[in-house]
Amino acid sequence: EAKAAGRSQICYYSVRMQEKLLSKMNLELALRDAITNDEFELYYQPQFDRLGNIQGVEALIRWFHPTQGLISPMQFIPLAEESKLIISIGDWVIRTACLQLKKWQTSSNLQHATISVNVSALQFSQDDFVTSVEAILREIDVPPKQLQIELTESMLVADKEIIAHKMGELKQLGIQFSLDDFGTGYSSLSYLQKLPFDQLKIDQSFVRGLSSHDEDSSLAFAIAAMGSSLGLEVIAEGVETQAQLDLLKQCGCDLFQGYFLGYPVPVSELENRFSQRDR
Ligand code: C2E
Ligand code: MG
Ligand code: MG
Ligand code: MG
Repeated sequence: EAKAAGRSQICYYSVRMQEKLLSKMNLELALRDAITNDEFELYYQPQFDRLGNIQGVEALIRWFHPTQGLISPMQFIPLAEESKLIISIGDWVIRTACLQLKKWQTSSNLQHATISVNVSALQFSQDDFVTSVEAILREIDVPPKQLQIELTESMLVADKEIIAHKMGELKQLGIQFSLDDFGTGYSSLSYLQKLPFDQLKIDQSFVRGLSSHDEDSSLAFAIAAMGSSLGLEVIAEGVETQAQLDLLKQCGCDLFQGYFLGYPVPVSELENRFSQRDR
Protein backbone atom coordinates (compact mmCIF):
# COMPACT_ATOMS: atom_id res chain seq x y z
CA GLU A 1 0.00 0.00 0.00
CA ALA A 2 2.74 2.34 0.97
CA LYS A 3 4.46 1.47 -2.28
CA ALA A 4 1.32 2.17 -4.30
CA ALA A 5 0.78 5.41 -2.49
CA GLY A 6 4.38 6.33 -3.15
CA ARG A 7 4.04 5.50 -6.82
CA SER A 8 0.90 7.56 -7.24
CA GLN A 9 2.65 10.40 -5.54
CA ILE A 10 5.51 10.13 -8.00
CA CYS A 11 2.93 10.10 -10.79
CA TYR A 12 1.25 13.13 -9.34
CA TYR A 13 4.50 15.04 -9.17
CA SER A 14 5.62 14.08 -12.65
CA VAL A 15 2.31 15.24 -14.12
CA ARG A 16 2.71 18.46 -12.23
CA MET A 17 6.26 18.78 -13.50
CA GLN A 18 5.12 18.09 -17.03
CA GLU A 19 2.47 20.76 -16.72
CA LYS A 20 5.00 23.16 -15.37
CA LEU A 21 7.43 22.42 -18.16
CA LEU A 22 4.72 22.78 -20.77
CA SER A 23 3.54 26.13 -19.47
CA LYS A 24 7.14 27.25 -19.31
CA MET A 25 7.68 26.24 -22.92
CA ASN A 26 4.50 27.98 -23.97
CA LEU A 27 5.53 31.09 -22.12
CA GLU A 28 8.91 31.02 -23.82
CA LEU A 29 7.27 30.64 -27.21
CA ALA A 30 5.01 33.60 -26.48
CA LEU A 31 8.00 35.58 -25.26
CA ARG A 32 9.66 35.18 -28.65
CA ASP A 33 6.94 37.21 -30.33
CA ALA A 34 6.25 39.64 -27.52
CA ILE A 35 8.45 42.41 -28.92
CA THR A 36 7.11 42.27 -32.47
CA ASN A 37 3.56 41.97 -31.11
CA ASP A 38 4.16 45.07 -29.04
CA GLU A 39 3.23 43.38 -25.77
CA PHE A 40 5.83 45.05 -23.57
CA GLU A 41 5.45 48.35 -21.83
CA LEU A 42 7.74 50.27 -19.52
CA TYR A 43 6.24 51.45 -16.26
CA TYR A 44 8.04 54.20 -14.41
CA GLN A 45 8.45 54.53 -10.66
CA PRO A 46 9.51 57.94 -9.38
CA GLN A 47 12.60 58.53 -7.24
CA PHE A 48 12.67 61.55 -4.93
CA ASP A 49 15.40 63.58 -3.30
CA ARG A 50 15.41 64.61 0.36
CA LEU A 51 13.31 67.68 -0.40
CA GLY A 52 10.66 65.61 -2.16
CA ASN A 53 11.51 66.65 -5.69
CA ILE A 54 11.49 64.01 -8.38
CA GLN A 55 15.01 63.27 -9.48
CA GLY A 56 14.46 60.31 -11.74
CA VAL A 57 12.48 57.18 -12.43
CA GLU A 58 13.18 53.48 -12.62
CA ALA A 59 11.91 51.77 -15.75
CA LEU A 60 10.22 48.48 -14.90
CA ILE A 61 9.09 46.24 -17.72
CA ARG A 62 5.55 44.89 -17.95
CA TRP A 63 4.37 42.12 -20.23
CA PHE A 64 0.74 42.13 -21.32
CA HIS A 65 0.18 38.62 -22.61
CA PRO A 66 -2.78 38.48 -25.05
CA THR A 67 -4.62 35.78 -23.08
CA GLN A 68 -2.87 35.55 -19.72
CA GLY A 69 -2.85 39.24 -19.06
CA LEU A 70 -0.16 40.95 -17.04
CA ILE A 71 2.84 38.75 -16.34
CA SER A 72 5.32 39.89 -13.71
CA PRO A 73 8.98 40.40 -14.63
CA MET A 74 9.83 38.11 -11.71
CA GLN A 75 8.18 35.39 -13.76
CA PHE A 76 9.45 36.07 -17.24
CA ILE A 77 12.87 37.71 -16.79
CA PRO A 78 14.46 34.45 -15.59
CA LEU A 79 12.92 32.70 -18.59
CA ALA A 80 14.13 35.44 -20.90
CA GLU A 81 17.62 35.00 -19.48
CA GLU A 82 17.56 31.23 -19.90
CA SER A 83 16.45 31.51 -23.51
CA LYS A 84 18.77 34.44 -24.26
CA LEU A 85 15.73 36.47 -25.34
CA ILE A 86 16.77 38.96 -22.67
CA ILE A 87 19.33 40.34 -25.08
CA SER A 88 16.76 41.68 -27.51
CA ILE A 89 14.30 42.50 -24.74
CA GLY A 90 16.99 44.43 -22.90
CA ASP A 91 17.82 46.25 -26.08
CA TRP A 92 14.17 47.21 -26.45
CA VAL A 93 14.16 48.47 -22.83
CA ILE A 94 17.15 50.76 -23.37
CA ARG A 95 15.80 52.03 -26.67
CA THR A 96 12.36 52.70 -25.22
CA ALA A 97 13.83 54.48 -22.20
CA CYS A 98 15.96 56.68 -24.47
CA LEU A 99 12.96 57.55 -26.63
CA GLN A 100 11.17 58.55 -23.43
CA LEU A 101 14.08 60.74 -22.32
CA LYS A 102 13.99 62.36 -25.73
CA LYS A 103 10.29 63.15 -25.41
CA TRP A 104 10.82 64.63 -21.96
CA GLN A 105 13.47 67.06 -23.21
CA THR A 106 10.68 69.56 -23.85
CA SER A 107 8.71 68.78 -20.68
CA SER A 108 9.08 71.29 -17.88
CA ASN A 109 9.21 68.93 -14.93
CA LEU A 110 10.74 65.80 -16.34
CA GLN A 111 13.41 67.20 -18.61
CA HIS A 112 16.15 66.68 -16.04
CA ALA A 113 14.86 63.35 -14.79
CA THR A 114 17.09 60.32 -15.11
CA ILE A 115 15.83 56.93 -16.21
CA SER A 116 17.31 53.86 -14.57
CA VAL A 117 17.13 50.65 -16.56
CA ASN A 118 17.74 47.17 -15.21
CA VAL A 119 20.32 45.33 -17.26
CA SER A 120 20.67 41.59 -16.85
CA ALA A 121 23.96 39.74 -16.57
CA LEU A 122 23.69 38.08 -19.96
CA GLN A 123 22.94 41.34 -21.71
CA PHE A 124 25.79 43.14 -20.00
CA SER A 125 28.22 40.34 -20.80
CA GLN A 126 27.64 40.57 -24.56
CA ASP A 127 30.76 41.69 -26.41
CA ASP A 128 28.81 44.30 -28.33
CA PHE A 129 26.93 45.69 -25.33
CA VAL A 130 28.89 48.96 -25.28
CA THR A 131 28.65 49.56 -29.01
CA SER A 132 24.94 48.76 -29.09
CA VAL A 133 24.19 51.19 -26.26
CA GLU A 134 26.36 53.78 -27.93
CA ALA A 135 24.47 53.30 -31.19
CA ILE A 136 21.11 53.76 -29.49
CA LEU A 137 22.27 56.94 -27.75
CA ARG A 138 23.63 58.37 -30.95
CA GLU A 139 20.59 57.44 -32.99
CA ILE A 140 18.09 58.88 -30.52
CA ASP A 141 20.36 61.71 -29.48
CA VAL A 142 19.68 62.02 -25.75
CA PRO A 143 21.96 63.27 -22.98
CA PRO A 144 23.70 60.05 -21.83
CA LYS A 145 24.03 61.40 -18.29
CA GLN A 146 20.28 60.95 -17.89
CA LEU A 147 20.56 57.24 -18.54
CA GLN A 148 21.47 55.09 -15.58
CA ILE A 149 22.20 51.38 -15.70
CA GLU A 150 21.30 49.18 -12.75
CA LEU A 151 23.45 46.13 -12.20
CA THR A 152 22.96 43.67 -9.37
CA GLU A 153 25.62 42.43 -7.03
CA SER A 154 25.05 38.84 -8.11
CA MET A 155 26.25 39.57 -11.63
CA LEU A 156 29.54 41.01 -10.50
CA VAL A 157 31.02 37.58 -10.01
CA ALA A 158 32.52 37.62 -13.49
CA ASP A 159 36.03 38.90 -14.14
CA LYS A 160 36.33 42.20 -12.33
CA GLU A 161 38.76 43.67 -14.87
CA ILE A 162 36.38 43.02 -17.74
CA ILE A 163 33.41 44.47 -15.87
CA ALA A 164 35.38 47.53 -14.78
CA HIS A 165 36.60 48.09 -18.33
CA LYS A 166 33.11 47.86 -19.79
CA MET A 167 31.66 50.14 -17.14
CA GLY A 168 34.48 52.58 -17.79
CA GLU A 169 33.71 52.74 -21.50
CA LEU A 170 30.03 53.40 -20.81
CA LYS A 171 30.86 55.98 -18.17
CA GLN A 172 32.98 57.78 -20.73
CA LEU A 173 29.84 58.19 -22.77
CA GLY A 174 28.29 59.80 -19.69
CA ILE A 175 26.15 56.91 -18.52
CA GLN A 176 25.74 56.38 -14.78
CA PHE A 177 25.72 53.14 -12.83
CA SER A 178 23.67 52.01 -9.89
CA LEU A 179 24.25 48.90 -7.82
CA ASP A 180 20.79 47.36 -7.37
CA ASP A 181 19.61 45.13 -4.51
CA PHE A 182 22.67 46.02 -2.50
CA GLY A 183 23.27 43.88 0.54
CA THR A 184 21.77 40.70 -0.88
CA GLY A 185 24.90 39.50 -2.68
CA TYR A 186 28.45 38.86 -1.79
CA SER A 187 30.41 41.79 -3.12
CA SER A 188 33.19 42.86 -0.85
CA LEU A 189 34.06 46.44 -0.08
CA SER A 190 37.27 46.30 -2.08
CA TYR A 191 35.30 44.99 -5.03
CA LEU A 192 32.87 47.87 -4.78
CA GLN A 193 35.68 50.32 -4.53
CA LYS A 194 37.21 49.13 -7.77
CA LEU A 195 34.06 49.40 -9.85
CA PRO A 196 32.97 52.87 -10.96
CA PHE A 197 29.45 52.92 -9.52
CA ASP A 198 27.70 56.25 -9.00
CA GLN A 199 24.84 55.02 -6.89
CA LEU A 200 24.12 52.31 -4.38
CA LYS A 201 20.60 51.01 -3.98
CA ILE A 202 19.76 49.64 -0.54
CA ASP A 203 17.70 46.52 -1.03
CA GLN A 204 14.08 46.43 0.05
CA SER A 205 14.81 43.74 2.60
CA PHE A 206 16.73 46.25 4.72
CA VAL A 207 13.96 48.80 4.41
CA ARG A 208 11.15 46.39 5.23
CA GLY A 209 12.30 45.93 8.80
CA LEU A 210 12.29 49.65 9.52
CA SER A 211 9.46 51.00 11.62
CA SER A 212 9.19 53.57 14.35
CA HIS A 213 8.36 50.81 16.88
CA ASP A 214 11.29 48.62 16.10
CA GLU A 215 14.14 51.05 15.89
CA ASP A 216 16.55 48.57 14.39
CA SER A 217 17.81 50.72 11.59
CA SER A 218 21.44 49.83 12.23
CA LEU A 219 21.87 47.80 9.03
CA ALA A 220 20.34 50.44 6.80
CA PHE A 221 22.39 53.01 8.64
CA ALA A 222 25.63 51.06 8.15
CA ILE A 223 24.97 50.53 4.44
CA ALA A 224 24.10 54.18 3.86
CA ALA A 225 27.18 55.31 5.76
CA MET A 226 29.37 52.94 3.80
CA GLY A 227 27.92 54.11 0.48
CA SER A 228 28.44 57.73 1.36
CA SER A 229 31.98 57.15 2.50
CA LEU A 230 32.71 55.52 -0.86
CA GLY A 231 31.40 58.67 -2.49
CA LEU A 232 28.26 57.01 -3.80
CA GLU A 233 24.79 58.42 -3.97
CA VAL A 234 22.58 56.27 -1.76
CA ILE A 235 19.01 55.40 -2.71
CA ALA A 236 16.57 53.34 -0.67
CA GLU A 237 14.05 51.18 -2.50
CA GLY A 238 10.84 49.68 -1.18
CA VAL A 239 9.84 52.63 1.00
CA GLU A 240 6.29 51.82 2.06
CA THR A 241 5.62 54.03 5.09
CA GLN A 242 6.25 57.53 6.41
CA ALA A 243 8.13 56.01 9.34
CA GLN A 244 10.50 54.21 6.97
CA LEU A 245 11.04 57.39 5.00
CA ASP A 246 11.85 59.32 8.17
CA LEU A 247 14.29 56.69 9.38
CA LEU A 248 15.98 56.44 5.98
CA LYS A 249 16.41 60.19 5.97
CA GLN A 250 18.04 59.91 9.37
CA CYS A 251 20.30 57.26 7.88
CA GLY A 252 21.48 59.88 5.41
CA CYS A 253 20.00 58.42 2.23
CA ASP A 254 19.96 60.79 -0.73
CA LEU A 255 17.06 59.35 -2.69
CA PHE A 256 13.89 57.41 -1.97
CA GLN A 257 11.72 55.09 -4.01
CA GLY A 258 8.73 52.98 -3.02
CA TYR A 259 4.98 52.51 -2.92
CA PHE A 260 4.63 55.16 -0.22
CA LEU A 261 5.96 57.75 -2.64
CA GLY A 262 4.67 56.34 -5.91
CA TYR A 263 3.88 53.05 -7.62
CA PRO A 264 5.39 52.08 -10.96
CA VAL A 265 2.91 53.54 -13.45
CA PRO A 266 2.40 53.89 -17.21
CA VAL A 267 4.08 56.95 -18.65
CA SER A 268 0.81 58.88 -19.06
CA GLU A 269 0.11 58.58 -15.35
CA LEU A 270 3.60 59.70 -14.45
CA GLU A 271 3.29 62.68 -16.75
CA ASN A 272 -0.08 63.59 -15.25
CA ARG A 273 1.36 63.56 -11.78
CA PHE A 274 4.36 65.67 -12.67
CA SER A 275 2.74 68.00 -15.11
CA GLN A 276 3.24 71.73 -14.81
CA ARG A 277 0.18 72.45 -12.71
CA ASP A 278 1.62 70.18 -10.03
CA ARG A 279 4.30 72.66 -9.24
P1 C2E B 1 14.20 45.62 -8.98
O1 C2E B 1 15.02 46.21 -10.08
O2 C2E B 1 14.84 45.49 -7.66
O3 C2E B 1 12.90 46.51 -8.92
C1 C2E B 1 12.20 46.79 -7.75
C2 C2E B 1 10.93 45.98 -7.63
O4 C2E B 1 10.26 46.32 -6.44
C3 C2E B 1 9.92 46.24 -8.73
O5 C2E B 1 9.19 45.03 -8.96
C4 C2E B 1 9.00 47.28 -8.09
O6 C2E B 1 7.71 47.32 -8.66
C5 C2E B 1 8.96 46.77 -6.68
N1 C2E B 1 8.68 47.83 -5.72
C6 C2E B 1 8.83 49.17 -5.85
N2 C2E B 1 8.49 49.82 -4.72
C7 C2E B 1 8.10 48.86 -3.84
C8 C2E B 1 7.62 48.91 -2.48
O7 C2E B 1 7.48 49.95 -1.86
N3 C2E B 1 7.32 47.71 -1.90
C9 C2E B 1 7.46 46.52 -2.55
N4 C2E B 1 7.15 45.41 -1.90
N5 C2E B 1 7.92 46.44 -3.84
C10 C2E B 1 8.23 47.61 -4.46
P2 C2E B 1 8.88 44.54 -10.43
O8 C2E B 1 8.49 45.71 -11.29
O9 C2E B 1 7.92 43.41 -10.31
O10 C2E B 1 10.27 44.01 -10.94
C11 C2E B 1 10.90 42.93 -10.31
C12 C2E B 1 12.30 42.72 -10.79
O11 C2E B 1 12.30 42.36 -12.16
C13 C2E B 1 13.17 43.97 -10.71
O12 C2E B 1 13.67 44.15 -9.41
C14 C2E B 1 14.24 43.64 -11.72
O13 C2E B 1 15.20 42.80 -11.14
C15 C2E B 1 13.46 42.84 -12.76
N6 C2E B 1 13.13 43.74 -13.88
C16 C2E B 1 12.11 44.62 -14.02
N7 C2E B 1 12.18 45.25 -15.20
C17 C2E B 1 13.28 44.77 -15.84
C18 C2E B 1 13.90 45.03 -17.11
O14 C2E B 1 13.47 45.88 -17.90
N8 C2E B 1 15.02 44.31 -17.42
C19 C2E B 1 15.54 43.39 -16.55
N9 C2E B 1 16.64 42.73 -16.92
N10 C2E B 1 15.00 43.14 -15.36
C20 C2E B 1 13.89 43.81 -15.00
MG1 MG C 1 16.18 47.81 -10.26
MG1 MG D 1 16.18 46.48 -6.57
MG1 MG E 1 14.98 43.53 -6.37
